[in-house]
Amino acid sequence: MTKKEYLTKLKSLAKNALLVKQDQVLVAEILTKLEKSAWNKLSQKTAETLNLLLDQDALTKKKITQRLEAKTVDLLTSSLTNFSDLEIQNIVKECHSLQLTDGCTVGCPWCCFSAQPFVKVKLSYPSLLNFLNKFGQHLPTSIMLYWSSDPFDWYDQEQSLVELTQEFKKYQVQVVVSTAVPKGTEFTIMRYILMEYYGSSDHKKTSNYHNNDIFQSRYSDVLSETHHQVFDKKQVLAEDMLNYGLLQTKTRGNLYNKIRFSETNMNTKRVEQIFALLQFLEVSDYFLDSLRVEKRDLTDGFNIINMGRYINNPKRDLLKDVIGTACYDGALITPSTVESLSVVGVTKNSPEGLIKQTIHPGKQELAQTNYTFDFLDKFYDEKYLNNWQILPPIVSLQFEKGILKKKTKLKLLARDLLTYTFLWIRVIPVIETYDKIPGQDSYVKKFVRSLKQQFQQRVKISKKLLPLEKDEEIKSTAQLVIAKLEDWFATRKTT
Ligand code: SF4
Repeated sequence: MTKKEYLTKLKSLAKNALLVKQDQVLVAEILTKLEKSAWNKLSQKTAETLNLLLDQDALTKKKITQRLEAKTVDLLTSSLTNFSDLEIQNIVKECHSLQLTDGCTVGCPWCCFSAQPFVKVKLSYPSLLNFLNKFGQHLPTSIMLYWSSDPFDWYDQEQSLVELTQEFKKYQVQVVVSTAVPKGTEFTIMRYILMEYYGSSDHKKTSNYHNNDIFQSRYSDVLSETHHQVFDKKQVLAEDMLNYGLLQTKTRGNLYNKIRFSETNMNTKRVEQIFALLQFLEVSDYFLDSLRVEKRDLTDGFNIINMGRYINNPKRDLLKDVIGTACYDGALITPSTVESLSVVGVTKNSPEGLIKQTIHPGKQELAQTNYTFDFLDKFYDEKYLNNWQILPPIVSLQFEKGILKKKTKLKLLARDLLTYTFLWIRVIPVIETYDKIPGQDSYVKKFVRSLKQQFQQRVKISKKLLPLEKDEEIKSTAQLVIAKLEDWFATRKTT
């Protein structure tokens, strides 16, 4: 096809594609650039890519329509209705996820939170603006705009996650999104990345941490503190852990928002297409490299199905699979519920690794944020291991009519199990890597000394809980990991 023929075809496809206005604007921008470009390999590839994305098949169109036609609810009069302003403030302070839709159009087999298929309900954009206006100042510094959902499934008429994120930015909140690239959202995702690229005033600083020694673009992020179940654990190397930690430290503060892709063999091509078009739009390679792409190989079910609805997978690893996908204690607001979440170890009786409680108006019980998604990042700093605290117990905040009445530290072996597993699976391999670095001896000893003290204090409480524990799996796994840690600490010289 000649350039002229291609452009004619693409323009006609663009006209008929189901896209929100701003996505159409982006497509027009790419077409204009294409028109002005020489007809070389790059522009031909761009035209092919555009062709593939604009030629929406019936399924894509169906999903787009579902998203747009989902029932729209007002956040303040749906799940947050009947709560007083003071109660909402308390919830918002501990809220790390605002789920924008009930339902998801992707349907990943590993979805351990059992998202309902298809978008059934969505929050209205004006109600989200009202929510921000009234309570935005109380939000924590970082929020995920998703939970059992894909954030890019959310549209309210012409508004998409791009526009919504910009609103959150006004409250100095870092927005974290993770996407499996729902069909038909590719141009919105591109706009999101372009917003990050051009919108972040210090985006040029990204060159500071672009270092291929540290971070290989699109490497299997086997070390993510969340979603790690989806990776082949054999690939986990302590060196990677270290690199991951350094990367997190170096990127933190440089990028205003965080975006993570779940790349699977279902969406690999579309992820590639998004990156190819962004390159054509001259987004720098180092910026694109800074976006996290986690690869998930669906051809081998073993890698992805050890928790959630696949909890009975016989290949489940007794220890590694204790660390689940849930990544914070605190509140979750969805279109239909307000819940308190506390993270515990994944077991057959708790396949999500979560204790969930609906929060009702009046008497509220809410988990204090004692664990968030960046918990393990804090374990590193620019200069090696830092003064890190092991995962603390769950703390329950009890309110009456919005007033804090009681704060209770919960003694839960399920939580302790997670604490010890973090140590065993994530922390100790890194310490052993440091052992190999010359000149780190006294530093490592100091770190291990502090860790040992924290471990010993905690284990005293856990041992008292053991005979009371009714869940045999929690009991036996906790005993196993405690014994491993005791042996390990016994062999370490700390002075
Ligand atoms: S995109 Fe997320 S919420 Fe949707 S099915 Fe996949 S894992 Fe579940």
